[in-house]
Amino acid sequence: MEFDWIESGPTELISQHAERIEKALGYFPNVRTDPNCPADGSVQIDKNCRAEIVIKNATCPQVIALHEMLHVIRFWVDEIPMLGIKNGDPRKATINAIDNMYEHSIIIPHQRSLGDDGVVPRFEGRILLRITELDAKVVADSRMRPDRRMPLFFALDASWMGKDVADKLRAACEKYKLHLIFDQILALRNRCGGNDAQSKINFMTAILPHFGFQYYEVKAMNMREGNAYPLNAYPKTQGSLHRAPNQSACK
Ligand SMILES: [Zn+2]
Repeated sequence: MEFDWIESGPTELISQHAERIEKALGYFPNVRTDPNCPADGSVQIDKNCRAEIVIKNATCPQVIALHEMLHVIRFWVDEIPMLGIKNGDPRKATINAIDNMYEHSIIIPHQRSLGDDGVVPRFEGRILLRITELDAKVVADSRMRPDRRMPLFFALDASWMGKDVADKLRAACEKYKLHLIFDQILALRNRCGGNDAQSKINFMTAILPHFGFQYYEVKAMNMREGNAYPLNAYPKTQGSLHRAPNQSACK
């Protein structure tokens, strides 16, 4: 595989992760530059359900490369199901965001455990900015109120952030009387602490009904299996979320 997209060459850690991906999948994801990429890097799914790494600039820092590889490993190597909803559904952005927030609650602590001490402060900075932006919007438009996604997103973030920042996230929810939902979701996330597929399915099974999703509409898709399917046809069995809501799913 080529590493010329990574600033100052690959470290041993990067090479190990890249080899793991290539060995498991038989290919290393295509790396593409897109100046409109909303972050420094992102992982996308091509039409054949293969992973693709998209970076904003011609090269990206080592920590970004590692982060994107960890996303690839979760979905394609470890076969953790990703939430999916059909293209064109107006709730697609919400489903993608819920999945992404959940994934970060696993990946960021993992990245820190691999020696990237800066990863938590980098993400914390972004989140604090989000609170400030929300407050500014509410000041500008007094009718504006955060929606029910706010306590979900903030609780997922609070599950891995430092206590100071987690407290600020809770306080932001309290201001909009959403702190009880925040507390419930954080407790649930802490009980579903595992990085395995079942923990994720249990968590989603418990929380998605609170966000207006029915199980027949939201399915988990498995990328490795997904290779055999077009993007919108989901495997019927493995990882499916066709279950009754169950708050005690995570023990
Ligand atoms: Zn990420």
